[in-house]
Amino acid sequence: MTLNVQFSDTPKRWTIFEGPLNDAFKAQGLDVDLSTDHAPETVDYVVYSPKGPVQDFTPYTNCKAVMSLWAGVEKVVGNDTITQPLTRMVDDGLSEGMREWVTGHVLRHHLDTDLDVNRAPGDWTPHMPPLASERGVTILGLGELGQACAETLLPLGFPITGWSRTQKDIEGITCLSGDDGLIEALKRAEILVLLLPDTPATTNIINPETLALLPDDAVIINPGRGPLIDDDALLAALDLGKIKHATLDVFRVEPLPEDHPYWHHDRVTVTPHIAAETRPTTSARVIAENIRRGEAGEPFLYLADRDQGY
Ligand code: NDP
Repeated sequence: MTLNVQFSDTPKRWTIFEGPLNDAFKAQGLDVDLSTDHAPETVDYVVYSPKGPVQDFTPYTNCKAVMSLWAGVEKVVGNDTITQPLTRMVDDGLSEGMREWVTGHVLRHHLDTDLDVNRAPGDWTPHMPPLASERGVTILGLGELGQACAETLLPLGFPITGWSRTQKDIEGITCLSGDDGLIEALKRAEILVLLLPDTPATTNIINPETLALLPDDAVIINPGRGPLIDDDALLAALDLGKIKHATLDVFRVEPLPEDHPYWHHDRVTVTPHIAAETRPTTSARVIAENIRRGEAGEPFLYLADRDQGY
């Protein structure tokens, strides 16, 4: 039986995902008609992006699962028209991308490489950063991506503290949870990495009170989501010199408007939501595996928890 899979993302993404998805379906032995314009009632699975045309799933009466191409599902997890299982993206390409982006920015701030990049001709002033073992890194969010980053930073010597909703036990990492755990995690955060999802419980988790707990001259790196940060509070902390630098990849409004103060602040680095892209080849394998599972009556991988919102 041929399965109808609806691809719902931008036309540009269709051009780069169509081939890898079809290859992955074949590799799984699945007979799939992948299209952007199936009749809704004939669709077996929807490959979903918040930027795609399908946001009302009411007509998709025979759809067995909605599969997000994004790891963060805040834009879809509350969609009441989805009565089917909703999966999010967890794949090696995303994890590798995030490991590299976070490690690069941690090392930039740890080594203060900006001093050398911007060094004037003839300026021979040396600088000696602490060793990694002397620089505490805290990661808020110890899920797929937070753990991948922790595993990469740990062998470099950084003492890693992680904070999550449920208590974890990961070798080499100080794992904390709960309100007291957050306080302790922030106190240790000379470099703070935000890899929490955007949920009602995490909105503005970086606010005047939590910023005050950070060591002086702390650096904040946010590849998580924009609403994790109270922007006015962060800008005030930067202006006061409490926070040395913020590297921000995600924002409440994207693209970040040109007149936003973040673009114009000397100690803010803006990147355009590029920390980790969903890569066609690796993510296609995850989608195909999940469709295989759906057809075999096996549990789907990476189900979003609608009660928790991620
Ligand atoms: P996961 O769901 O695997 O991990 C989320 C982590 O956050 C978990 O450790 C979870 O705790 C923790 N968490 C959630 N809510 C709370 C809370 N209220 N208090 C404390 N901890 C909490 O997600 P991923 O690691 O795959 O992705 C993380 C986020 O990264 C995504 O939601 C997305 O927003 C962002 N992202 C950004 C990208 C970019 O390019 N900038 C690309 C991909 C993702 P527990 O382990 O107990 O469940």
